[in-house]
Amino acid sequence: MSFWKTDESDESPLKFVSRKDEITGDEYDGQKRVEMSCGHAVDPGSLTAWCRSLMDQGHFQLHCPADVNGNKCGARWSYPEVRRCASLSGSEQREFEEKLALLAAKLYCDYKECPSCKSLVERKVLTTIRVHCTLCSYQQPVPYEFCWQCLRAWKGSGTPSDRCANEGCRDLDLDVLASCATKDLPHSEIHGCPSIRACPTCGLLIEHKDKCKYVSCTRCHVEFCFACLELAGICQKSKAGAWFQWCAKPIAPRQSRIPVWNRCQILPERDDSCVIL
Ligand SMILES: [Zn+2]
Ligand SMILES: [Zn+2]
Ligand SMILES: [Zn+2]
Ligand SMILES: [Zn+2]
Ligand SMILES: [Zn+2]
Repeated sequence: MSFWKTDESDESPLKFVSRKDEITGDEYDGQKRVEMSCGHAVDPGSLTAWCRSLMDQGHFQLHCPADVNGNKCGARWSYPEVRRCASLSGSEQREFEEKLALLAAKLYCDYKECPSCKSLVERKVLTTIRVHCTLCSYQQPVPYEFCWQCLRAWKGSGTPSDRCANEGCRDLDLDVLASCATKDLPHSEIHGCPSIRACPTCGLLIEHKDKCKYVSCTRCHVEFCFACLELAGICQKSKAGAWFQWCAKPIAPRQSRIPVWNRCQILPERDDSCVIL
């Protein structure tokens, strides 16, 4: 994974300033701060801690949290910029690069290990669980296919999206959705809502933990309503003024299929939704 290596040519010297740390808000205390590309000054230590907390929350796009008249600056910092400005040590660099690569792989790629050759295979057609391994098919006289769900050699016909003909092939996520506990959403009239939902955009399973009925997905960053499963903006607009307590639509039943993420559709918008965390 080398998605951050592209803009490494910028080796202009770091600019040190005598200003407050925009991440912690600590006033200038004699310790020089680094000015980031967006113009905000940060302490290398708090820069490291802030970026680490972003990654721990599942974000791999590092951005500036500085307050600008009540709004977040939100400027995107590249990993090389953070590495230089935070003076990451060798082990911190390895930690950051591993986490970022893992997060990016989860976001951009749908990879699984081929049960036969153990190479990583990307699923090209997201609507079927019947997947072709190029490497195996290259080495064997007959094309090799496996089941994306039960990770065994493919059995059955057609290109189903739910299960193959192997015994016991089933989607464990659907089991979770069917059997999870229900809860009353705080500060609302919404009762008996499933406590786990599949993100309506990308299908990631998310447990409701926050006070708000709107939840932002850690994978696709799209915010949705846990009760009616509409996108947050649509749910709010359709019940203007009272969206907090009620949705315009009734509470959505337990989901019986997992939405498949069409990343080509979501990627152009993802840029904006990522910086307004
Ligand atoms: Zn900034
Ligand atoms: Zn293979
Ligand atoms: Zn299967
Ligand atoms: Zn999502
Ligand atoms: Zn709603």
